[in-house]
Amino acid sequence: MQNSPAPLQNSSDQVDSKSGNSSGPIYVEVAVPLHVSHTFTYSLSATHQQLAQIGSRIVVPLGRKLVTGYIVALSPKLKIDSVPDESQIKEAEEILDLEPVLTPELIEITRWISEYYAAPWGEVIKSALPPGISPTIEQLVSITETGQGRIQRPVTTAAPSNTRSRVLNLLLEAGPTRVEELAKILGPKQAMKALRELEKDGWISRIQRASTLFVKPKHQRMVRLLAKPEGDSKRPFEAQERILRILREQNAVSLKDLLTLANASLSSVNTLQRHGLVEIFEQDLRRDPLAGVTLPRLVPFTLTEAQTSVLSKIEGALRKGEYAPFLLHGVTGSGKTEVYIRTMQLVLRLGRCAIMLVPEIALTPVFSRRLRAHFGDQVAIFHSSLSRGQRFDEWIRVRKGEARVVIGTRSAVFAPIQNLGLMIVDEEHESTYRQQDSPQYNGRDTAIVRAQRESAVVLLGSATPSLESFHNARTGKYSYLNLPQRIGNRPMATAQIIDMRQVFDRYKKPRVFSDELLEAIKQTHDRAEQSIILLNRRGYSSFVLCRSCGETIQCPNCDVTLTYHRSDSVIICHYCNHREPAPIQCPNCQGKYIYYVGEGTEQLEEMLRKKFPELRIARIDRDTTSRRSLFEKSLIDFSEGKIDMLVGTQMLAKGHDFPNVTLVGVVSVDAGLALPDFRAAERTFQLITQVAGRAGRGDLPGRVLIQTYHPAHYALRHACAQDYHGFYNEETRHRRNHNYPPFVALASFMVHGKELPKVRSLAVDLRKELDLANKQRLVRILGPAPAPIARLKGEHRFQLILKSRSRRVLRNLIDAALQRLSSRGSNLRSINLEIDPVSLM
Ligand code: ADP
Ligand code: ZN
Repeated sequence: MQNSPAPLQNSSDQVDSKSGNSSGPIYVEVAVPLHVSHTFTYSLSATHQQLAQIGSRIVVPLGRKLVTGYIVALSPKLKIDSVPDESQIKEAEEILDLEPVLTPELIEITRWISEYYAAPWGEVIKSALPPGISPTIEQLVSITETGQGRIQRPVTTAAPSNTRSRVLNLLLEAGPTRVEELAKILGPKQAMKALRELEKDGWISRIQRASTLFVKPKHQRMVRLLAKPEGDSKRPFEAQERILRILREQNAVSLKDLLTLANASLSSVNTLQRHGLVEIFEQDLRRDPLAGVTLPRLVPFTLTEAQTSVLSKIEGALRKGEYAPFLLHGVTGSGKTEVYIRTMQLVLRLGRCAIMLVPEIALTPVFSRRLRAHFGDQVAIFHSSLSRGQRFDEWIRVRKGEARVVIGTRSAVFAPIQNLGLMIVDEEHESTYRQQDSPQYNGRDTAIVRAQRESAVVLLGSATPSLESFHNARTGKYSYLNLPQRIGNRPMATAQIIDMRQVFDRYKKPRVFSDELLEAIKQTHDRAEQSIILLNRRGYSSFVLCRSCGETIQCPNCDVTLTYHRSDSVIICHYCNHREPAPIQCPNCQGKYIYYVGEGTEQLEEMLRKKFPELRIARIDRDTTSRRSLFEKSLIDFSEGKIDMLVGTQMLAKGHDFPNVTLVGVVSVDAGLALPDFRAAERTFQLITQVAGRAGRGDLPGRVLIQTYHPAHYALRHACAQDYHGFYNEETRHRRNHNYPPFVALASFMVHGKELPKVRSLAVDLRKELDLANKQRLVRILGPAPAPIARLKGEHRFQLILKSRSRRVLRNLIDAALQRLSSRGSNLRSINLEIDPVSLM
């Protein structure tokens, strides 16, 4: 029976590989992880037609190279518009998967990202898969049977060309050999020619092999008991007896452990295996990110009335099995996390799966232990500081359906979960959900779209919802859920602003710590309670300055000053990571008086240690978190009361639940307030509210002290009053007046490059094209202007900002302008487009 081929209407058409044309697909659409916006069409050989499935990795020729791409569609015939001529279509080299790595859901969501954010589809897919999962490709050449038969005869007569005979001889000697190696020995041109001819004659064959440098399952050798030894006859050798005794008690033991436990040698195990008593076998070894950790004891609570009411609304939606978006606005300590956990339990009971996104790894050590305690092996953990092996294994467990709950940072939105019932985005307002490198997607927004496509419930949670999300809840796009009170009606911490102008007046010089803060630290410690001190600036000093000539030391690649890091005695650029030894004299005037200005967390820690030698202090910022074990240890130690004070950046502000913390000190927020960014106020408000939420979570009341030179700023005032609505109203007014999200759709272009005149003229060209496409003036175009950091990583940067009330109009304009630019030969690689930028810095 012949099915008629499915008609193809557009590039998004996908023919199901199983139910398609019975003669199989002929062409594949492949997305390659390169900076190209379209997919490529390839033809398939007969064998490949049997194997090809949507979602499999495929090796295809692109230009002169082979690349690994992803099959995103199969088509029984050529698309009219894709390629002019069938003869131009190349054949795919190899299909790497028998089972597709990409689920249909992942194909769908990555395509959405690629379209919405104007990002190359293949790149999106690549970042959706665990790193290192796609092996680099290696081609091996070996002699076929025909070739072997021929070679029995003297090679010289059998092979007309000299190179051909050399190839055969080499292969005969060395066995299967990599193409690159043959090319090295024989010269690339000749080798390729000889290989093609030999292959055509059927003397050699090529196979694709994944190079060994990729992540794969890890095995370990295990031993188990096969037969009961007859009777109780003692073995002649005690070591063998010890081995059997251990195996009688345990099902299977790893060979390594067994040898240690039994104090035996491998030969004893081998002997037992020869006698058919035991068996050595291979088992997948799971690289478990939580191996060996102690899990917290779970306290069962009765939900509060507010929690119950929230939960029942979510439950209603879950049972319907339809897309439903919720905004859970709950003050810090109101029991949101408990709601997340109960919702996930419910989803599992309903036979579906859940993904929970968290903004930072800082949240995961304590929280993932808690989830493991609740869900056991059902939970998988995804985040970037796991080893590649761990990430791979966790991913595979999800792919196989062994793990049904995923918790992780941004990219966990791509977890290969099938039957998704629930998507949770904790601290939805966090800017870390935005990926900074290409593809620049927003994990939260992707989560919402994924939930929509897969008919799942999406729960956005925050104590300080982003303006956009709150706006969506107000306008009815999201259902609004509220937990207005802390658990046990604990009071919110009282927050107090310390006016550093007065402190300056008192001492006639700037001071890092006000007396109030120092006194509060002392009192807190005297009561055996803990404190958190926050400053949003890592390193030791933010400026290195010469007292004689006033010169600051700038990064050679960026328009920023270098930050002094005392522990390594270096100065570092926080943008490009340029580092050099800390200077002993001024590089400008050779002056000896190098002066460090602007305290960072490293210096803060040092100052506090000096002032309070009795305090056990640990620091948490990006410098300490690079050593993950250390960082986790600090957090765990702090939660167990082995540390009295944490000093750090905003990483400390989020999510942690330390009941014994009663003091939070914010050393300065002024740098954040002063940023030239439309979200500066929102960020500061969120930061203060969040960090204040770390205090007084247990039975003890909390106190928050905020040092600032701008005590009257509305973000600080509302944050201190814990008045979200007040802030929302005021900030909304600003956004409306100045045309910022959520009232307009925003896009920004960054034109960058090494040569200033080129960059400038490209930016001007871009502006011209945008203007041409903007005849109806429905889009407001600003710029080009030098970006706030005008030079970064050695490149000059010009910025253009686009605003429009209509997202569609905005997007069409952008596409039209870029298309014209590229058809005029401009290099679009120097233009970085960001849709919905979270910041304009
Ligand atoms: P949030 O995520 O909103 O900041 P959490 O879920 O961490 O709040 O809850 C704050 C504290 O209250 C935690 O220590 C949590 O274990 C506890 N808690 C949560 N729900 C309850 C409840 N129903 N009864 C008692 N304690 C609870
Ligand atoms: Zn730099």
